[in-house]
Amino acid sequence: MKESQYRICKKCLLLESFSEESVAASLRQYIERIEPDDKVSDEVYRERLAICKSCDRLSYGMCRICGCYVEMRAAMKKNVCPQVHPLWDSVHENADAPWEEE
Ligand code: SF4
Repeated sequence: MKESQYRICKKCLLLESFSEESVAASLRQYIERIEPDDKVSDEVYRERLAICKSCDRLSYGMCRICGCYVEMRAAMKKNVCPQVHPLWDSVHENADAPWEEE
């Protein structure tokens, strides 16, 4: 059967339709396809995720406030932490970082 012929049940959860490995691979592909201008630096990405990991709103990789997979949400410059007092606000791009491309 061709991939285009597959139909996905609208009531199934991701992990009921796909293996954990394929969900993780899809997340990685999504992040890799983000335009470089729209993506945060590796440093900011790691710092945002470190904050999520210590946040009581993180559950199974998802933010319980917005419902996003935090590894996807944290990768985009335009995204913010959805808390009333956003926890990512202390994380900023360092323009002087030598590993950043211009
Ligand atoms: S996005 Fe914000 S509220 Fe959600 S898990 Fe991360 S730090 Fe917590």
